[in-house]
Amino acid sequence: MAEIRLSGIGVSEGIRIGKVIRYDHSFHNQQFGNVSVEDVAREIKRLADAKAICVQEINQLIEQAQQTVGAEKAGVIQAQKSFLLDPSFCPEMEKLISKKMFSAEKAADQIVKKVMSIFENMPNEYMRERAADVRDVGNRLLAALTGAKGINLGDIREAVILIAEDLAPTDTVQLNKKYIHAFVTQKGGKTSHTAIFSKTLGIPAVIGIGVGLDQIQDGETIIVDGTSGICIVNPEEDTIRIYSEKMAKEVNDESALEAYASKEAVTKDGYRVEIGANIGTATDALYAVEQGAEGIGLLRTELIYMSEDSLPDEARQFKVYRDIVEVMGDKPVIIRTLDIGGDKELSYLKIPKEMNPFLGYRAIRLCLDQKPLFVTQLRAILRASAYGKVKVMFPMISCLEEWRIAKGIVEEVKEQLRAEGNSFDEGIEVGIMVEVPSVAILAKQFAIEVDFFSIGTNDLVQYTLAVDRMNEKIDYLYDHFNPAIISLLQNVVTAAHAEGKFVGMCGGMAGDPKAVPLLLALGLDELSMSATAIRKVKHTINQIELEKCRRLLEDVLQMNTAQDIRLKMESFCSENGI
Ligand code: PEP
Ligand code: MG
Repeated sequence: MAEIRLSGIGVSEGIRIGKVIRYDHSFHNQQFGNVSVEDVAREIKRLADAKAICVQEINQLIEQAQQTVGAEKAGVIQAQKSFLLDPSFCPEMEKLISKKMFSAEKAADQIVKKVMSIFENMPNEYMRERAADVRDVGNRLLAALTGAKGINLGDIREAVILIAEDLAPTDTVQLNKKYIHAFVTQKGGKTSHTAIFSKTLGIPAVIGIGVGLDQIQDGETIIVDGTSGICIVNPEEDTIRIYSEKMAKEVNDESALEAYASKEAVTKDGYRVEIGANIGTATDALYAVEQGAEGIGLLRTELIYMSEDSLPDEARQFKVYRDIVEVMGDKPVIIRTLDIGGDKELSYLKIPKEMNPFLGYRAIRLCLDQKPLFVTQLRAILRASAYGKVKVMFPMISCLEEWRIAKGIVEEVKEQLRAEGNSFDEGIEVGIMVEVPSVAILAKQFAIEVDFFSIGTNDLVQYTLAVDRMNEKIDYLYDHFNPAIISLLQNVVTAAHAEGKFVGMCGGMAGDPKAVPLLLALGLDELSMSATAIRKVKHTINQIELEKCRRLLEDVLQMNTAQDIRLKMESFCSENGI
């Protein structure tokens, strides 16, 4: 078969060569074919077998659901079973197989669509909603027929390259690097949380491939280049050889960088910046220290919530935070309060669907609205502060009132803990993320009140440029070198320093070696990134001089387009051996 090249967005570096395994959520929009007369009996038998598998699966799910969510909710799954056993549902499919020579998949697909449209057109809303149950049953049946069923991401135990239309952040966090050597998706933007988590996990990834990915079959060989964003399906011998050599070079480059883990991030002319890691668990913290992290600049606590089936209680959270703090010893740990919403969902926290989830009920907005949840988390964080150098940080602050209310709740929690005789760090610093342009613009006012800032460029870029960070079609507009971003960064750092406040950066820009010279010149006190990026960034800083970076910044501030700035940064980096 001929070699096929596909290109997407490389979001997590590294080259991998391996066999494909597909992870399909839905069989919607797939085209299924016909069969010959001789195959009719076989197709009917395949359909009956698939139906039996589904009934068995649904029975298990009902049993499980009765224990976890109660009999009433388990009834919803029961309704799906009724569709399967309905005297016309599967028999209608059999008719299509024998009369029209449809394959079992095609027959199932047609009947499912027909029944769905009957429900969708019913006058009663309750009945219209049943269309979703029919679709679920249809997906289950088609999964059983195509054999793509039952891939539980956490259960994959062979070395593969995962291909999916899309991966939710909850899917991504289940991926085991030992087996999933890389992944490729059809959809997704470069700072979607799936992209960020792939970097954190150190799994090479190419996303936003668009059309072409659906042609790839299980078991085919694929080369994934997470640096350039290229994927090659069914590579020829020569291509495999070239990429194997590149992989070997990567390993060499990696070992050349190894020494930087234990080095400080100091420029040639002696200017030092603190290097932090963005993490989600105590295991990540251990890895981050190994890679040379001097602190945790961002603990994404939502990862703890995402790995549970229900809201983690205070004791559970306290244990995780304390474990992380203990791993870090006397190094700072910035714990960000729950940042859920946008592309990060919690199945057990029913948030109604919104038109613009990134502009909606998320992060600090949700926490202020669901105060008991927020208080539980703050209690756990404050109690963990007795064990090391913890700071609290609020995500998605958009106005001073929000900050003041959130800070007020921290004071209330401190009071509770004092009254109970629980120890915590009385001097704990409380700061905010700068992710919303209104905060970057009003940085002067915020700087008077907050203890520190951390700039979240992933969101700051999307909100400033009105570019959805999840949408691959407009990815070309999503650029942290846009002059509007540089101007906001300068405003924040100047405002923070005028008040003697610490300002770090924990968005993806901090881990981009090409941006680092600019960030040093702007005066950021700390850069926090995926642990996998630390050694490269430390290496970069050790190759440059602050004086030169400052002159570079002067030039950049005169530029009007992201492209001009990017080109300038690229030539600066290559001149300085970066
Ligand atoms: C950011 O927005 O830059 C950030 C670090 O937060 P997250 O990526 O989790 O939204
Ligand atoms: Mg953010």
